[in-house]
Amino acid sequence: MDCPQCGLASPPESLRCDCGYDFRFRRPGGGQPGVPLTKSETILWILLIIFVPLVGPLAGLSYSMYKLAKGKRDARMMLMASIMILVVNVLFLTIAISK
Ligand SMILES: [Zn+2]
Repeated sequence: MDCPQCGLASPPESLRCDCGYDFRFRRPGGGQPGVPLTKSETILWILLIIFVPLVGPLAGLSYSMYKLAKGKRDARMMLMASIMILVVNVLFLTIAISK
C-alpha cells in the first residue's frame, strides 16, 4: 500500500504510515484541522440533517396520537405542535435541498 501523502510503501496490514497518514480513515494523522470530510462522513451528515428534523416531530406526532387514542384531550396541543414543527422542517429541508 502506497501512502498518498508521502508516497512511502507500507505493508497492506498496516493501519498507519510512518508519516502519520491513516489508511483506515484515509486521512492524515494527528487530528489536523481542515481535513475535508470523506464520502461516508458526508453521507452520514446528510442523513442526520434530513432525518433528525423529521424523526423528532414524527415521534411527537405518534406519541400524541397514542395519548389521544387513550382519551387524553390535552394531547391535542401536542399533536398540533408536532404537525406544525414537521411542516416547517419539511419546508426548510425542501428549500435546503433544492439549493
Ligand atoms: Zn506516509
